[in-house]
Amino acid sequence: MITRMPGAGEHHTPIMHLLTLLISLFVVQPLVEYWLHRFVHYLLVEYHIDHHRNWGNGKYWDYNGDWAVRCVVAYFAILGWYTAALMLLKYEIMHTVVHRWPGFKRMHRHHFLHHHNKSCNYSFSAIWPDRIFGTLAE
Ligand SMILES: [Zn+2]
Ligand SMILES: [Zn+2]
Repeated sequence: MITRMPGAGEHHTPIMHLLTLLISLFVVQPLVEYWLHRFVHYLLVEYHIDHHRNWGNGKYWDYNGDWAVRCVVAYFAILGWYTAALMLLKYEIMHTVVHRWPGFKRMHRHHFLHHHNKSCNYSFSAIWPDRIFGTLAE
């Protein structure tokens, strides 16, 4: 049986919760997003290849998000996995925004280039993972 240390987890201040959330969303999430997307291309996952096929070239701007992903977000939330739900929701929002909103210039172009060259720009919500793993195209 696993016993908890007396008082473990009971002294987390709101600031520590906030810091954990910020690190999850802005450090862990971009890394998970980057490697999952890179792996999906490595495995040639048909679901994602379809995304490239359907939303390339002229139709790039028409992409309106993915209800399957939104269902998984809701499922995570129902399970009480709130951080995971927020991390996946961030990906869903960012992926939709970088397709539809050219005003979000840098990320818009970043993902647009990925749709043209599948071996670069795997990140949806940050530039730095592509920079540190050597897959950045600008
Ligand atoms: Zn896309
Ligand atoms: Zn892709």
